[in-house]
Amino acid sequence: MVDEIARNVTEGLDDLARFPRDGERFTQQRRAIWRVFTEGSGHMTAEDILAAMQPTFPHLSTATIYRELAWLKRRELISETDVGRGSKVYERLSDPPHHHLVCLICGSVADLDDSQFNSLRQSLENEIGFVPRIDHFAVFGACRHCRE
Ligand SMILES: [Zn+2]
Ligand SMILES: [Zn+2]
Repeated sequence: MVDEIARNVTEGLDDLARFPRDGERFTQQRRAIWRVFTEGSGHMTAEDILAAMQPTFPHLSTATIYRELAWLKRRELISETDVGRGSKVYERLSDPPHHHLVCLICGSVADLDDSQFNSLRQSLENEIGFVPRIDHFAVFGACRHCRE
């Protein structure tokens, strides 16, 4: 049954197909939102996602978008991050993970390589036995340009 559903979904929906067992409906709407994530790139706000959906689903509400985002987040398919822009941004989780440096003065957002977190991961595990899940992280501060 699971295989059958997995075969029936188009490319890019494979991750979503892992969850038909939940007994939750695999709605057209949910597929369409997931498609926005797989085809789009970078950070999107709930408003961005609503705008991308509107040509196909003109009656969609922001509340519905948030409900779908919560579903995708619970299943660890997307990240929800505060990058200091007022509203949270959503992005498909990447492998390896990527992170950001957010300047509180000029608002610039730079990419931060995942390897920067290796020593933190290691010391958290070795020293306090905690294995962190750092899958999309925003570090706030002041950029080099603003500090000069
Ligand atoms: Zn990101
Ligand atoms: Zn700056």
